[in-house]
Amino acid sequence: MSESQPESRVIRTQVGIVGGGPAGLMLSHLLSRAGVDSVVVEVRDPETIRNTHRAGILEAATVQMLADSGVDGRVLTEGHEHRGTTLRFDGQNHHVDFQDAVGQSVWLYPQNEVFWDLAQARERDGGQVFWSVSDTAVHDVDSDSPRITFRDAEGQEREIEAGIVVGADGSRSICRGLIPDGVRTDNFIEYPFAWFGILCEAPPSWPELIYTNSPAGFALISQRSDTVQRMYFQCDPDTNPEDWTEEQIWARLQECMQGEDGFRLKEGKIFDKTVLKFRSYVCEPLRYHSLVLVGDAGHTVPPTGAKGLNLAFCDVRVLAPALIGLFNDGDDSQLIEYSAKALERVWKAQNFSYWATNMMHTTEGENPFAQKRRRGELTAITGSENGRAYFAESYTGWQD
Ligand SMILES: Cc1cc2nc3c(=O)[nH]c(=O)nc-3n(C[C@H](O)[C@H](O)[C@H](O)COP(=O)(O)OP(=O)(O)OC[C@H]3O[C@@H](n4cnc5c(N)ncnc54)[C@H](O)[C@@H]3O)c2cc1C
Repeated sequence: MSESQPESRVIRTQVGIVGGGPAGLMLSHLLSRAGVDSVVVEVRDPETIRNTHRAGILEAATVQMLADSGVDGRVLTEGHEHRGTTLRFDGQNHHVDFQDAVGQSVWLYPQNEVFWDLAQARERDGGQVFWSVSDTAVHDVDSDSPRITFRDAEGQEREIEAGIVVGADGSRSICRGLIPDGVRTDNFIEYPFAWFGILCEAPPSWPELIYTNSPAGFALISQRSDTVQRMYFQCDPDTNPEDWTEEQIWARLQECMQGEDGFRLKEGKIFDKTVLKFRSYVCEPLRYHSLVLVGDAGHTVPPTGAKGLNLAFCDVRVLAPALIGLFNDGDDSQLIEYSAKALERVWKAQNFSYWATNMMHTTEGENPFAQKRRRGELTAITGSENGRAYFAESYTGWQD
């Protein structure tokens, strides 16, 4: 993928963006549509990001952002609408129909395709994206003229002078650390379990996602396409994926799905194995003088509620108009409110992700009270209209 790169060492722009993941590229796209200049620096090359498998479930508002803002309509033609999901426990499926409950759906469309659509849209529109950079550093965020220094793909030293720097640099953000101790609060918890994730060559076992709680632990059965499937099962955070053979993985997944209904997963060759640790994190505030954080740079959630990518887009929905107001009209009122407004949604999503994680997983050595209480919770959610509506509204995304 080519780039539009100015020749001079120092580049002046209105918004300098660290990180060319979904949050950084979507922000840059929306700003350019309103005539606000931005430059993105990204440490990886686009092919590597395109081949990194992460999120798969998009809320309706995320889909709408991609389609309505002119990124690409591919999400509507190649994505799969999921009108509900299945919670499985006691070896039986319990369907939550999102459309019945709250009149909303979610879409299965992999994050790597979201990234690709955004990267192509930036290239199509002449956006300035520096891929494969190194030595990124951000300076002077407590002034009105913050800077980003880096080496470009050819090893040349470069500098971006901006009015605002946005940290869209993911969960290991270097930008976040520039908010001084005493101003920044790190709200953080870890979980005693992780997900063992696989990609396999097999047909779908079920048309929608299945979230399972079983005596063998949690499992998630998800899809990628007609020929590739994504599945996870609960494991110890210190698990080495290479210690597990294909036979052991399938045996564990089938054990989690076991039930009187005789449900069996369709098996196939496993071509990717990863262990995903669980953490919940929120940085407060999300803005410090000329520095603003979006997406995983400001917060991470465990993947159970499928909220991470969607939250990154929610931040951008709040931040883009704030920066457009600042640079086009000299009005900083929305930027001043950005952190508090974005955090409202972040904490709702944190609560849902935490709650759904604890409802679906088992902890080692837990006593029968915990198991029976959890079953009570699952039956309360799936067995009543109000319970299903609570789950459906949270999962498909609160209307705002
Ligand atoms: C296995 C897995 C499954 C998931 N499933 C879901 C799901 O179903 N639904 C959902 O909504 N979310 C899900 N998520 C979460 C989702 O992937 C993230 O929330 C999302 O990627 C956040 O986007 P972002 O742009 O904020 O950060 P990222 O996608 O992490 O992008 C940040 C970018 O910044 C770049 N960068 C980092 N440091 C620097 C630097 N110093 N200089 C320049 N560039 C830098 C990185 O290379 C990266 O490309 C999942 C995550 C994982 C790992």
